[in-house]
Amino acid sequence: MDYHDLFDLKKNKRIGIMGGTFDPIHYGHLVTAETARSEFALEKVIFVPSGNPPHKSEAMVTRKEQRYLMTVLATAANPYFEVSRVEIERPGQSYAIDTVREFKSKMDEDSELYFITGADAIFEIVTWKDVDGLFDRCTFIAATRPGFNLDALREKLLKRLPIEYLKKIIPLEVPAMAISSTDIRQRIRNNRTVKYLLPEEVENFIYKNKLYRVDH
Ligand code: ATP
Ligand code: MG
Repeated sequence: MDYHDLFDLKKNKRIGIMGGTFDPIHYGHLVTAETARSEFALEKVIFVPSGNPPHKSEAMVTRKEQRYLMTVLATAANPYFEVSRVEIERPGQSYAIDTVREFKSKMDEDSELYFITGADAIFEIVTWKDVDGLFDRCTFIAATRPGFNLDALREKLLKRLPIEYLKKIIPLEVPAMAISSTDIRQRIRNNRTVKYLLPEEVENFIYKNKLYRVDH
């Protein structure tokens, strides 16, 4: 792939990746990324909107350029946040391992990559492409809401993953967890308010482009 992001990965030692469909991006994503940045002393968090998510069919997802633009709008004011187009530009399905490999190849040998996900996504990790390759290259930060039963998740994961891998999954308690893109899309379809669930710039973009009006 010829595409290169504008930001430089060489000068940072601790980098976070926040992958997602971001359809649309909301304060759950942003609070999680910012909390991870601050708690884990990350120098940069790179948001990576997926191009063609393997788990979601194309007709059901908003055009990738629009999801990318919403991610840029939502992250523009945070000096630690960047948005990568690698998955948008890469043909075929988007797999985390391809992105992780690409970032790692551009980072210094001794720098560390942290993959930030919601705890719901962490359980699905066992179904992701090249799980061994992922655990080889990064540490996972699993965002949970206050009161989330982490022990139950650990037990479930232990049946599917080696213990060395489990040690590379670090929980992070995050507020504002009840927000989801699914709920926001539904609210818009039903003419209900989404104010304060996502940045105003993103909300305006959604109305201007008439996103989420039709039921798929
Ligand atoms: P959808 O409802 O369409 O599945 P979503 O809100 O889960 O969307 P995604 O783009 O699928 O958003 O999620 C990207 C990443 O952000 C995933 O790792 C997911 O677990 C995490 N995430 C989603 N919502 C939250 C939230 N409220 N707080 C923390 N993490 C979240
Ligand atoms: Mg989701």
